[in-house]
Amino acid sequence: MAKQPIIFTVDDDEQVLAAIRRDIRQQYRADYRVMSTTSAKEALEALKELKQMGEDVALFLSDQRMPEMSGVEFLEQARKLYPTAKRVLLTAYSDIEAAIKAINDVQLDYYLNKPWDPPEEKLYPTLNDLLDEWQINHIPAFRGIRIVGYQYSPKSHAVKDFLSGNLIPYQWLDVMNEPEAKELLELAELTDQHLPAVFFEDGSHLKSPSSVELGGKIGLSSKAAEKMYDVTIIGAGPAGMAAAVYGGSEGLKTLLIEKHAPGGQAGTSSRIENYLGFPKGLSGADLTQRAITQARRFGIEFLSPQSVVGVETQDNYKKVILENGEQIHTKAVIITTGVQYRKLEADGIDNYTGAGIYYGAATTEAHACRDKDVYIVGGGNSAGQAAMYLSNFAKNVYIVIRKPDLSSSMSQYLIDQLAGTENVSIVPHSAIEAAHGETHLECVSLKNLETEKVEKKPAGALLIFIGARPYTSWTG
Ligand SMILES: Cc1cc2nc3c(=O)[nH]c(=O)nc-3n(C[C@H](O)[C@H](O)[C@H](O)COP(=O)(O)OP(=O)(O)OC[C@H]3O[C@@H](n4cnc5c(N)ncnc54)[C@H](O)[C@@H]3O)c2cc1C
Repeated sequence: MAKQPIIFTVDDDEQVLAAIRRDIRQQYRADYRVMSTTSAKEALEALKELKQMGEDVALFLSDQRMPEMSGVEFLEQARKLYPTAKRVLLTAYSDIEAAIKAINDVQLDYYLNKPWDPPEEKLYPTLNDLLDEWQINHIPAFRGIRIVGYQYSPKSHAVKDFLSGNLIPYQWLDVMNEPEAKELLELAELTDQHLPAVFFEDGSHLKSPSSVELGGKIGLSSKAAEKMYDVTIIGAGPAGMAAAVYGGSEGLKTLLIEKHAPGGQAGTSSRIENYLGFPKGLSGADLTQRAITQARRFGIEFLSPQSVVGVETQDNYKKVILENGEQIHTKAVIITTGVQYRKLEADGIDNYTGAGIYYGAATTEAHACRDKDVYIVGGGNSAGQAAMYLSNFAKNVYIVIRKPDLSSSMSQYLIDQLAGTENVSIVPHSAIEAAHGETHLECVSLKNLETEKVEKKPAGALLIFIGARPYTSWTG
């Protein structure tokens, strides 16, 4: 449920503060939270924390004469943090001149005279008008995880990819374009070297976090709870999640271990249309959410992010060895580690991987492709799905294939969908020869394999779907 916006009151006189708090609570507690303090300095510190937590302040009500700073000075500072909040000064008759001056200086919305009895006449009508006006113009602050970083930073991409893979919604704030990004960094006293920074709803943040740190913060567990399991499944793609459902449903003590995010390759799919039981298709995220919930309902334990680096046999059981050196004992092991993407061998590809070039990441970076020309390499179903999805964002989507057409590599339903989508084109008999750019991908060199002609084209992104090989090197 959305949290209520705040009415914030400051007065150094405890009795006056108690009275105003009581009157405001009585009238507004159904729609607003009331916060109050006798210290303007304390109030400003609290406001910084509230800002980092993504809280909204609707109205400030401040006394004018306070020892640490005047009410006008306080409102001036508070305005920097909450520019749209309404500002009201509480004054004695002798302060009216300062209040009138403040109307211009800090765009004070109103001044109220003490005492305000009866509040039904002297307090609520004014505050009602101001709060109504605030509500009309107010855009609620985003609640949830916010990531601040550079768009073309591989580390930023890794953080986004990890959170979206784990089905955690977040708001992406590009430090180059979003004033809110700079504001958050300033409040937390962070600099460029701490990016990407991840801000949580409880007001805490992580600087350039690893997957394990992020996983811990979003409630994932990377430590096994038991000493011995009946079955340990390595890899939480569709195969591993299905095995976990059956292990759990048979009452076996089941452990599922995943190095990145549940769903595996299928989890990154924008639309799967051939999965049994879903006639209208479903997204990879939806399939993952359903499968992992089903497995957990049967009581399985899910360890993530955690990589398995070896399996050994000892007496009558197996030892599963984790990347951090820990060992898990189990009666049986099921290896469902799927595949890893094949690398595109061309000049410059490694330089911009994560900075405009992505392997199988159609959904995570789709918004960054808006109104740009985007190239996809590969002629399989995953490339086709990515092209369909990105056509909703990009100006043009070009599918680069070596073959003359898609008929031998892609399902007919996808070929038909692509043919009916205006801003998608197939570039046959072609390959990417090089990627260029300063700090991120800006152009690709496209080679026609029949004519040998090479053309340099502007490219907002290059997505690579050229197959994969089994993820089994670690088995030795
Ligand atoms: C973009 C895209 C779209 C697709 N669309 C379709 C479609 O529409 N229809 C269709 O039928 N198929 C589709 N596929 C193919 C389908 O997703 C795969 O066939 C399927 O995901 C394979 O499942 P899996 O469980 O065997 O392996 P994977 O999905 O590859 O999962 C393996 C998991 O194991 C984890 N892992 C690997 N090594 C370790 C380790 N050492 N320790 C711990 N964990 C490890 C990986 O991180 C991964 O999560 C698509 C694939 C992609 C990439």
